[in-house]
Amino acid sequence: MGALRLSKRVIALSKRTSCLITKNAFQTKASEEGITKKVKLFETPLEVSDSLSDESIFTPEHVELRRALRKLLEKEIIPHVNCWEEAGGFPAHKVFKTLGSAGFLGVNKPVEYGGLGLDFSFTMAVHEEMGNIPCGALPMAIGVQADMCTPALTNFGSDELKKLFLAPNIAGDIVGCLGVSEVGAGSDVSAIKTTAVKRGDDYVINGGKMWTTNGAQADWMCLLANTSEGQNPHLNKSLICVPMKTKGIVVQPRMKKLGMHSSDTVQIFFEDVVVPQKYRIGEEGLGFVYQMKQFQDERLVGSVSALAICDRCIRQTANYCHQRKAFGKTLLSNQVIHFKLAELQTEVEMLRSTIYRATDLYVKGKDVTYLASMCKLKAGRLLREVTDACLQYWGGMGYMEGEISRAFRDSRLVSIGGGADEVMLSIICKYMDTLPSSR
Ligand SMILES: Cc1cc2nc3c(=O)[nH]c(=O)nc-3n(C[C@H](O)[C@H](O)[C@H](O)COP(=O)(O)OP(=O)(O)OC[C@H]3O[C@@H](n4cnc5c(N)ncnc54)[C@H](O)[C@@H]3O)c2cc1C
Repeated sequence: MGALRLSKRVIALSKRTSCLITKNAFQTKASEEGITKKVKLFETPLEVSDSLSDESIFTPEHVELRRALRKLLEKEIIPHVNCWEEAGGFPAHKVFKTLGSAGFLGVNKPVEYGGLGLDFSFTMAVHEEMGNIPCGALPMAIGVQADMCTPALTNFGSDELKKLFLAPNIAGDIVGCLGVSEVGAGSDVSAIKTTAVKRGDDYVINGGKMWTTNGAQADWMCLLANTSEGQNPHLNKSLICVPMKTKGIVVQPRMKKLGMHSSDTVQIFFEDVVVPQKYRIGEEGLGFVYQMKQFQDERLVGSVSALAICDRCIRQTANYCHQRKAFGKTLLSNQVIHFKLAELQTEVEMLRSTIYRATDLYVKGKDVTYLASMCKLKAGRLLREVTDACLQYWGGMGYMEGEISRAFRDSRLVSIGGGADEVMLSIICKYMDTLPSSR
């Protein structure tokens, strides 16, 4: 059923968009340097995705979906990335409407709310392709909209709530954000201080959220707040859908940051913000538990888009080093360089295997917290290693503004956001039963 529906929608999309082979930033730069004579083009993601159907978790429908997305990205998003990065922002409503109309914001969401009704492996195929957008900010912003602020709403929200927030979010008519982290509580989610106190049929919310992605443009927030003073910090919280135009919400100016320049990151204050209790997702007190489940989608989606970034960095670095000469020979002919690139690519393939394995188990309904934490940990660390090594081989050109330096600074976030490396290690230790508290 899902595949049939996919075919119709994706074929329609394919007809609307023409395939453009974009000239990548590195080629442009190489051309400016006058070193283009024998430029060996890196494999386009389309060619790479052709081999995807050989992977056990993917089918020709996955490849078709990725191909359609690639065409859309090449037409509507990739040509604007440099401009948005320069401007420090992108038009979220326009971009999400484009993606939403084509079905890419609700790949595994129910059909009755506008989703494609496919399984999570299709979501992963889509986010692997998103990693081909030549910046980290857009894949992150799209990830927040499609798969970070909505899983709990989809799984535990009432029909009324899903019609109000999920359906327009999937269509790209509204922009969503996720409000978990606070000034004094990032890694330790249980320590959040924002409260939602009952008054009549409403909640009155007070507190603040920090580093909220999409926050400057968001129409609604999936907010985690303390809804009781219960002793157990894992059972006194709730997730609430909060319309961002509600009185008492103060959104601070966009924060300047190391990377992810076109993504908006803001601090938000809540001063006596009134929302109906029926905007709560699922049962009162289970918000922390829902958020921990929701993190699994976030961590898998974040990890899979790292694959394309690593693939592209390695391929483009191989091409550059194949052109660039020093001491009478190409850089690539130095064994230290082509061996290093081979080692990095090997690591990427190892990560890919674990991500696909975790995806397969997740689709089968298994708890993949253990593997998803490993994927997130390894993706963050490998991105740092790949972008650092590749930038080195680009020499002075790598230090200039361009795709490689952007990948280097954008990727640094992956080891911090959505649960830092050390938090992932703690979760893995918990499953290994090696934490001191369990001894
Ligand atoms: C660009 C950006 C976008 C973000 N978007 C969002 C968003 O949309 N929504 C949202 O809710 N949050 C968002 N965040 C917040 C992000 O999830 C947090 O920054 C992250 O969880 C880490 O929390 P913290 O910054 O408070 O670090 P802290 O908790 O202060 O930790 C600092 C460092 O200490 C180390 N550490 C932490 N715990 C341990 C431990 N137990 N053992 C050993 N070392 C440890 C880690 O290295 C960690 O990086 C975003 C952050 C950034 C930078």
